[in-house]
Amino acid sequence: MNAQLLEVKTMLGQLRLSGAREKLEELLSEALKKELTALQFTDLLLKEELAVRNANSLKKRMKRARFPEHKTLAEFDFGFQQSVSKQQLLGLMDMCWVEKAFNLFFLGPPSIGKTHLALCLGIKAVQIGYQVSFVTLDQLIDILKTEPALSRSKRRLKQIMSSQLVIIDEVGFLPVNRQEANMFYQLVSHFYQQTSVIITSNKGFEEWAEFLGDTAITTAILDRLIHNSEIFNMSGDSYRINHRNTIL
Ligand code: ADP
Ligand code: MG
Repeated sequence: MNAQLLEVKTMLGQLRLSGAREKLEELLSEALKKELTALQFTDLLLKEELAVRNANSLKKRMKRARFPEHKTLAEFDFGFQQSVSKQQLLGLMDMCWVEKAFNLFFLGPPSIGKTHLALCLGIKAVQIGYQVSFVTLDQLIDILKTEPALSRSKRRLKQIMSSQLVIIDEVGFLPVNRQEANMFYQLVSHFYQQTSVIITSNKGFEEWAEFLGDTAITTAILDRLIHNSEIFNMSGDSYRINHRNTIL
């Protein structure tokens, strides 16, 4: 390899421009072939670096979000689930509500698409460039409880707290004790007016005090979450039961 080429590649590496370094030789021969100006070549090289960086950062944010599955709006049958409209969901896909730290609630019985819709929105938010965290309430409580002792939980909590959108799934599945409800309240207060939260729950608000075990804390949590929010009270038949796979 030509010594100058090697030097340029080394400098690109030192400057952490690895996308540009990888493509340097290919772009140099393209420049020669197409008789590109120095400016056109620089433009191509930097665009390559930016494309690689954006792709890497998307991959990293997608991984950090910890989505349990990949779901899209195209896979969602709005004919089957009629208590939300495609128009409403498409309206939310611009993510303007994340900018304003609005919250969303998807409430209703099991297997009607609450988590599916939350995932679609979360994935879209990551694609647009937001930092997102997906966590079930059980996992969240576990993270909050073990955070003082476990560095893994400390790291995860830091990621959750620095996200612009946090999806808390399966709120209300398991009862929560008073100390846990208090920790949840502290976190919700931290999110208030600065982080968007999507809540999915099989419990209506009137039932929250029961699984959170304390009326005062429940009121405080709901006050903050509901203040700027959109609530989807969903109903309908279970998609899983209606679309079950059969053996015979
Ligand atoms: P919930 O969170 O309300 O319990 P999920 O969103 O987990 O339900 O839905 C259960 C399964 O059924 C998932 O695989 C989901 O993709 C699918 N599903 C639910 N509703 C619909 C729908 N209207 N169209 C397509 N798939 C759906
Ligand atoms: Mg669910």
